[in-house]
Amino acid sequence: MLPKRNAPVEMQGAEFRQAGYQLIDQIADFIDNIGNKPVTTNPSSVQLSTLIGLDPLPEYGKTANEIVNRASGLLFNHSLFNGHPKFFGYITSSAAPIGALADLLAAAVNPNVGAQILSPVATEIEKQVVKWLGEFIAVPACFDGILVSGGNMANFTAFFAAINAKMPERKKEGNARAVNRPVIYCCRSTHTWIEKAASLSGLGADSFRWIPADSDNRMDIVLLEKSIREDKANNLRPIMIVGTAGDVSTGAVDDLKSIAAICKRHDCWFHVDGAYGIPAAVVPEQRRLFEGMADADSIALDPHKWLYAPLEAGCTLVKDPNHLVQAYSSHPVYYNFSNDAEPAARNFYEYGFQNSRGFRALKVWMLLQQAGRQGYIEMISTDIRLARLLFQLASQHTELQAVTQNLSITTLRYCPPGQPEVDLNQLNELLLNDLQRNGEVFLSNAVIGDKYCLRACIVNFRTSEKDIEEIVEIIVRTGRKITEIILNKSI
Ligand SMILES: *Cc1c(COP(=O)(O)O)cnc(C)c1O
Repeated sequence: MLPKRNAPVEMQGAEFRQAGYQLIDQIADFIDNIGNKPVTTNPSSVQLSTLIGLDPLPEYGKTANEIVNRASGLLFNHSLFNGHPKFFGYITSSAAPIGALADLLAAAVNPNVGAQILSPVATEIEKQVVKWLGEFIAVPACFDGILVSGGNMANFTAFFAAINAKMPERKKEGNARAVNRPVIYCCRSTHTWIEKAASLSGLGADSFRWIPADSDNRMDIVLLEKSIREDKANNLRPIMIVGTAGDVSTGAVDDLKSIAAICKRHDCWFHVDGAYGIPAAVVPEQRRLFEGMADADSIALDPHKWLYAPLEAGCTLVKDPNHLVQAYSSHPVYYNFSNDAEPAARNFYEYGFQNSRGFRALKVWMLLQQAGRQGYIEMISTDIRLARLLFQLASQHTELQAVTQNLSITTLRYCPPGQPEVDLNQLNELLLNDLQRNGEVFLSNAVIGDKYCLRACIVNFRTSEKDIEEIVEIIVRTGRKITEIILNKSI
């Protein structure tokens, strides 16, 4: 008998157990202690590249144990921890620990969820996750879709299905010969994915109408309809309106009900970008904000934001999933995926951009079971309550100005009393940079009107009331320090 092949990347059970158990122990300690460390030690790129070393590509291998230990040391000691209870930057959530176990399991079995035959059980689990996400936000059961890498991809996947559905000639003729230029409507505050979509679709920025936001940072419905009527009068062809459910800067939710009605009147595809905010629809008191969402043709949402899945996980839901198949399916001769014995086979490569696909559904599936709907209602409503507490504490403080509060996003500024000569925009920008470098708390920024603001987005199941009280104190203390620096400089 030939000896078993001994490949350099193979690990026998004993070796895997040793490296794996040790890693699991380290991860468990990391989770227990995440709140006791700074959010970041803010290491510079030069420091880190020195630490990682300048070795050329390794010629010969090392043991797995050695490599795993080095990697975990680097990551645990030199990362920015978005799982820290005082991390509120951008829209990056704390990752639920069960997601780490799910990714380990998914990588071990490694199903390719591009085709049913390559991933029998994983495909069924992904189908269930997509259904559950629809139930989570309570849209009709006809909605179906696919998991993707995140919000950008979830929006692109819907966007290209939409323009394909609304411009059926496009698949053959391309954009150039389309009769009557198609027009797409979105708000000035729509997330930047739309600029990429404008450019990559070949429709170009001129095919987009950037409708101004009203004073509540929601798309101005009157100007939207006016713009559509003007375009129609000029023989242009309105094809799609993009609404946002939870805008990135302030968390504002567009008037989806009115947008849905306008879409119906003008025969437009209604896309809702709910990447951040739409999971809040699970909370009964928030439900009204999202009225009209069920009339959407497509919805983007991000389990790696408010559902606390580790990166990456986004989801595209489409009311009529045939639109996805029409846009993305192809049948090359080298695929044997259509099987008469399995007419219900779901080949996910036909639903989106990817071909080979990882099993990102597993972590979302596990998470939805671990928390259940009630668990999410509790976590999401607590995040919202904490964001409101921050707004309230800022409005009560003589040195702070509370600016906006929607969903779990609060914006505020440091405004030193009796210092009219200080430029508040400059002060708050310097303040934000100092806070981010310092590592006690991580906030990001928003520009509201002409105000540069600090912005806290709480998608963090580890944050407590005490953290909120402490960050107010940290902001004020640091704000005083920066004010001193500015005043001393100008003397
Ligand atoms: C975060 C976000 C996106 C982009 O999502 P990624 O997962 O970062 O690609 C798009 N739209 C909105 C409203 C978002 O909040």
